[in-house]
Amino acid sequence: MQKSFPAMVIDSVDGRTMGAFREISMEELPDYDVLVEVAYSTLNYKDGLAITGKGRIARRTPMIAGVDLAGTVVESRSPKWQTGDKVVLNGWGLSETEWGAYGRYQRVKAEWLIRLPDGFSMQEAMAVGTAGYTAALCVDALEKWGTVKPGSSEVIVTGAAGGVGSVAVALLAAQGYNVTASTGRPETHDYLAFLGATGFVDRASLQEKGPPLQKERWTGGIDSVGSSTLVNILAQTVRGGAIVACGLAGGADLNGTVMPHILRSVALIGMDSVVAPLEQRLAAWKRLERDLDKEKLRKMTTVEPMSRLPQLAEDIIAGRIRGRVVIDVA
Ligand code: NDP
Repeated sequence: MQKSFPAMVIDSVDGRTMGAFREISMEELPDYDVLVEVAYSTLNYKDGLAITGKGRIARRTPMIAGVDLAGTVVESRSPKWQTGDKVVLNGWGLSETEWGAYGRYQRVKAEWLIRLPDGFSMQEAMAVGTAGYTAALCVDALEKWGTVKPGSSEVIVTGAAGGVGSVAVALLAAQGYNVTASTGRPETHDYLAFLGATGFVDRASLQEKGPPLQKERWTGGIDSVGSSTLVNILAQTVRGGAIVACGLAGGADLNGTVMPHILRSVALIGMDSVVAPLEQRLAAWKRLERDLDKEKLRKMTTVEPMSRLPQLAEDIIAGRIRGRVVIDVA
């Protein structure tokens, strides 16, 4: 095993946290039970914030960035995992409070890992990544709420051409929902139609402040944008409908009214994938194995080397990434 390897490390520079490549020695890794050789990671919005320093993701420095990994166990002090096991890790504070995936090796806690789902290669599991697994958690949450059923009434996905949005469109369409995609990029309409969207809304139309109650349209939705977009789709949701909020690509504020909730019984369901319990994770991955068409996954994915992370981080924050990016760590 090599003594050191290059990693994307977040450090404090003049009071700001920023990412840069530097050599990490094996001895510097945390003293957790399972050593994983990372094959692939991914690029998520949060990774973009961490590397560019546009959001304070790392709570301590130095911090190896990268919130997702797929790899092979090379050493284990836990009876749960043996050398050679293929594993996946999503979240659990990687890149925030725990060292993450943008380096050849990482030591992690045994309970953070799940077995690589049978239906996916390591590269495909990272094409799903936190964004896709969060989309699956959101669909699970909508179904659990119980009022949103597949059929003719519309569900909306915002930030549709992004990572969460692309997988959400594909998963909802696979279940027979009538999916309307909100995007700011008309050039992605063919792509989104291929994933299963049947209608489109220009994202600009959701960014202007509207009345607290608007024409009822959505029975449900998955929102990765936040801010005025979320306020407007809540105001357009039908009586008893539900919106799952998981992101803030358009802003973290939520300057709306209680009207949709108290006059139409509209539900706002929150989703945090980072510390989701194991059974929720396994259910989400089961859905992905069952419902995520491989051809659609291929169409939404590009594979990039680690060396391109600085540019890709800028691109995802600027909303220039379509679908999902796998990072080849090897
Ligand atoms: P992406 O950058 O891939 O997708 C975000 C999409 O949002 C863009 O593609 C774009 O879609 C839209 N968008 C970007 N900027 C704006 C803007 N200023 N106003 C309106 N829409 C905008 O990111 P991800 O899909 O990886 O993540 C999406 C969000 O979900 C992020 O905020 C991320 O932090 C959050 N997230 C939360 C998780 C959780 O556990 N709660 C887990 C994973 C992600 P389009 O071009 O189609 O308009």
